[in-house]
Amino acid sequence: MYMYKVIYRRKPTLLEWFPFFYLILNRMLRIAIQTKGRLNEQSVELLREAGVIIKEEKRKFLMRAANFPVEILFLRDDDIPQTVAMGAADLGIVGYNEVAERGYEVDILQYLGFGGCRISLAVPKNVQYNGLDYFNGKRIATSYPNVLQRFFDEKGITAKIHTITGSVEIAPAAGLADAIFDIVSSGGTLISNGLVEVEQVLHSEAVLIGTPQLCEEKMNIVRQLMSRFDSVQKGYGKKYLVLNLPSSALDEAVKILPAMRSPTVIPLAQSGWCSLQTVVDEKELWDIIERLKAIGAEGILVLALEKIVL
Ligand code: ATP
Ligand code: MG
Repeated sequence: MYMYKVIYRRKPTLLEWFPFFYLILNRMLRIAIQTKGRLNEQSVELLREAGVIIKEEKRKFLMRAANFPVEILFLRDDDIPQTVAMGAADLGIVGYNEVAERGYEVDILQYLGFGGCRISLAVPKNVQYNGLDYFNGKRIATSYPNVLQRFFDEKGITAKIHTITGSVEIAPAAGLADAIFDIVSSGGTLISNGLVEVEQVLHSEAVLIGTPQLCEEKMNIVRQLMSRFDSVQKGYGKKYLVLNLPSSALDEAVKILPAMRSPTVIPLAQSGWCSLQTVVDEKELWDIIERLKAIGAEGILVLALEKIVL
C-alpha cells in the first residue's frame, strides 16, 4: 500500500493553459475550493474558522473574502489540481486522491484532517479471492486509472483498466467489469452492491495544495493561513473541561488529567475547594469525567473548543 506519494507528474499542455490565461494576471492570493460536494462545506468552514469569511448569500464563481486578503475560486474538484498547477489559483483545497490521479505539479502544503477516505480494489463477494494475482487478466472499472495503473505496475499485475466516470460500483453486476477500484469510506455502498473490499491502495484526506514557487509576499500570507488552519485542526475532537474539586484531591486529579502544560487551578471562595480547567480529547472525555467524579469532582462543565494556538 502506498500512502501520500505522488509518483506520476505531468505539466499542463498549452491548450489546457488557454482558458486560464485571463485569471493569471497580477492579483491577490487566490484559493480554489469545491463548488459543491463532499468537501465544500468543510472547506468553507475551515476557511471561516481561520478568519476567511465567504458571504454565502451572494456567491459567485470568484469571490473576495470579507476580512482577509484572499479570493476564493469555486470549481469542480477535478479541476482544482490543474488550476493550481497553472497558477490560476495559488492554493487549492482538494482530496489527495484527485492530486494523485491528475498528476499535476503542485506542492502538498498541509493535510487538513477531513474528507478521509481510501481507494480500494473490491471484488464480487461470491468470488474466491486469494491475493493480488487474482487481478491478472481481469477487467477493472475505475475513475482512478492512473493511480491503479501505477499500483499494478509496482506489483507486476497486468489487468484491463476501464475508465468509468459515475457509478463504478454497478459495473460488475452489469457485466462490465470483474472488479472495481473506487473510493470507500464506510463501505456501505460496496455491501449494497454485493462487493467486498480486498485491497486498500491509497489513503486520502483533504489537502492544501500550492503552486510551486509562490512569491515571498504571497508565501507570507500562505504561512499565516497554514498556521491558522493548524490551530483549527488542533481543536478538532477536543473539549474544554471546567470542574470544582476538593483541594485535597488536586494531586490525584493532575495525574488523571492530560493538559497542554498542566491544568489551570483557581482557588474558589469556599476554602478547601478549587476550580480546575483543562483541554481533553473527546475520545477520553467520559472516562476522565468518571475518574474525576470518583475523587470528588463536581460542577463539571464540558465546553466546545474552537482553536488551539500553541
Ligand atoms: P465535483 O462535482 O466537484 O466533481 P465529485 O462528485 O467528483 O465532485 P465528491 O463526491 O463531492 O466529488 O467528493 C469529493 C471528495 O471527497 C473526493 O474526491 C474524496 O477526496 C472525498 N471523499 C470522502 N469520502 C468520500 C466518499 N465516501 N465518496 C466519495 N468521495 C469521498
Ligand atoms: Mg469530481
